[in-house]
Amino acid sequence: KLSMRLERVAIHIPKGSILADIGSDHAYLPCYAVSNGLCDQAIAGEVVEGPYQSARKQVAITGLQDKIEVRKGNGLEVLNSDEATCITIAGMGGTLISSILESGKEKLGKAERLILQPNVGAANVRSWLIDNGWALTGEEILEEDGKIYEILIAEKGDPLQPYHVNKQIGLMFGPFLTKQFSDTFIKKWQLEKRHLERIIEQLDESGRSGLESKRNELEAQISVIEEVLKG
Ligand code: SAM
Repeated sequence: KLSMRLERVAIHIPKGSILADIGSDHAYLPCYAVSNGLCDQAIAGEVVEGPYQSARKQVAITGLQDKIEVRKGNGLEVLNSDEATCITIAGMGGTLISSILESGKEKLGKAERLILQPNVGAANVRSWLIDNGWALTGEEILEEDGKIYEILIAEKGDPLQPYHVNKQIGLMFGPFLTKQFSDTFIKKWQLEKRHLERIIEQLDESGRSGLESKRNELEAQISVIEEVLKG
C-alpha cells in the first residue's frame, strides 16, 4: 500500500500525463500512478545504484515494464528535453529539489505541472518557482507517522499571483497553506516555534557573550510565527 504522503502527491498528476518521478527509489509512485490509471506512461529516475535496482525490480514485479522506464542518472538529466509533461520530486530536502530543478531547467520544456514534496525547506522550493516563472496552484500539508509533510503544485504562469498578500510570509508558510490554516499547519508552526524557543534557552544557558544578534534574529522569527498563528 502506498503511503498517504505519496498518495497525496499522486492525486495531483493530470490524467494522460507522461510522468517523470525523479529520485524514485522503489518507483512506488509511478507504479501506483500507472496501475490506477492516473497516467499512461512514466519514467522513474534514480541516481544511486541500490534504489535504481529496487525501482527496476518493483516495476518488473508489477508487470509494468511496457509503461514505466527506469533510468539511472542525476536529476533531470535522465529526460529528453521534450518528454515529461508532469514531474514529481518527493521525499528530499527543499534545497536538493531546487538544485535538481535548477540544473535540469532545459528538460522542463514540455512540463505542464510540477508536484514537489520537500521534507524540509519548502521556502527554498517556493523561491525557485518564483524565480523561474512557475506559479503555485495549490499546496497540501499532512501528517503521517509523526512527520509533517508539505506538497507544492506548480504550473507555468504568473509566479507572484499567489503571493499578493505578503511575499515574505507566503514564501515561508506557503500562501495556500496559510489561507487553509489547517490543524496540521497550526501544529507544524507551533512545533517550529517551540524549537526556536528551545534554541534561545540554550543560548541563554550557554552564557556566552556576543549572541545578542542571533537571539534577536530568533525572537524575530518567533514573532512572525506568532503573528501567522493568530490567523
Ligand atoms: N521519491 C521517493 C519518496 O518520496 O518516497 C523516494 C525518496 S528517497 C528519501 C530520495 C531518493 O532520491 C533516494 O533514492 C536518492 O537516491 C534519490 N536522489 C537523491 N538525489 C538525486 C538526484 N540528484 N537525482 C536522482 N535521484 C536522486
